[in-house]
Amino acid sequence: MTTRDYATIDLSVDRTGEAMESINKEVWMLAEISNEESESAKVHMRELEAAGFTITSVGTSGRPTAFIAEWEQGEGGARIGFLPEYDALPDLGNAASGEQVAAPNGKTSGHGCGHNLLGAACTGAAIALKFTMEMEGIPGLVRVYGCAAEETSGAKVYMVRDGYFDDIDVCIAWHPQTYAGTGYVSTSAMSDVVVEFHGKTAHAGGSPWEGRSALDALELFMHGINLMREHVPTSVRMHYVIQAGGSAPNIVPDYTRLYMYLRDKDRAGVEALTTWARALAEGAAMGTQTRAEFHVPYGMSETINNTPLVENCYKHMMEVGAPQWTEAEQAFARDCQRNFGVPEEGMATDVRPISPPSVQGGSSDLGDVSWCVPLIWFWYPSVPQGVSMHTWPVTACGGMSIGSKAVDGAAKIMARMGYDLMTDAELRAAARADFIERRGDVKYISPLDNVS
Ligand SMILES: [Zn+2]
Repeated sequence: MTTRDYATIDLSVDRTGEAMESINKEVWMLAEISNEESESAKVHMRELEAAGFTITSVGTSGRPTAFIAEWEQGEGGARIGFLPEYDALPDLGNAASGEQVAAPNGKTSGHGCGHNLLGAACTGAAIALKFTMEMEGIPGLVRVYGCAAEETSGAKVYMVRDGYFDDIDVCIAWHPQTYAGTGYVSTSAMSDVVVEFHGKTAHAGGSPWEGRSALDALELFMHGINLMREHVPTSVRMHYVIQAGGSAPNIVPDYTRLYMYLRDKDRAGVEALTTWARALAEGAAMGTQTRAEFHVPYGMSETINNTPLVENCYKHMMEVGAPQWTEAEQAFARDCQRNFGVPEEGMATDVRPISPPSVQGGSSDLGDVSWCVPLIWFWYPSVPQGVSMHTWPVTACGGMSIGSKAVDGAAKIMARMGYDLMTDAELRAAARADFIERRGDVKYISPLDNVS
């Protein structure tokens, strides 16, 4: 690979700074939860259109808050995708403060996963890449996928199913974290499972023998799930909440509902868990003379990593470095840590070595994209060290300068990767070859093909 000058692409990111900051701040304030993030999607589309992109799809794949925007020039160029997300989480609203206090606008939802930052940097990197391609006359297509509802039924899985990624060379993404790093971490495959039991109501004191308790069935099902734990691989995660458990002790409940995630290191593992759980539901219903309904409304696949892309990402991350935090920002981070109850270590200041292969317990709809197109994603710090995601300090830091600095650095890393991929056919070919090798003989089956 020839030596490249990244000054122009870095300057293009700086030129995009105002647009990125608008997206970041506005989406943080809106704090719209999954499938309701319509105004947040509009903020992204507004900035993309202002920068010369065309909105080619709104409500993509039947997902109301998803969209696609693209820009292209010349012929025969590469085709690179960016993957902004913009949904918030319920109950994680917080002021941009080092302690847990309500947001000034009273919003109870908040960006406890930092998707205001994630989205701003992805859209910003796409715009900066376009500016640079115009200046240097580079042919190619830049496509931005408005990745709605990542926290629940992520739109990427639907867009993959519908072929929206089939003509793309590489997709680029990142996620806020407590550190800067990339490597060979895969996310878990998962399925959403909803189990409902239907029984028969009766007076629980007067004539309980006339009733059949849907709560008994639910308890038996949960007991079965918890006995399963001994006999499943350590890569398995099974976690649930009771959404309906009856209303009053003196009424035998005739309806209960449990919502559960089943996860494992790959899709095949999740399908096996799902079959077992379905049998448990049927058994629980049989034993309590109730009726079970077992639904699998959604699922995600594990991620495939990519060696040439990880190496390219790491190179740029080392050059861009972690953000330079001010003493005030470090003090803010330590306030968050003290109030959150973790060591006061401040923000991370260095880049971690490339992480070895492992599977993380969480899942992402990036997984399904990675089965369709070579994908690179990385972590970049916007969260104080030791603080877990989906907590109030993530919302707090994402609403002040710590978040803005993470957006700037992450956008530079992504824009540089986009520039390399647009101009280096060898890198694209290497990424494609690695993708084909890692995918091997496993045929991708959309989790949506097995929904019930
Ligand atoms: Zn997230």
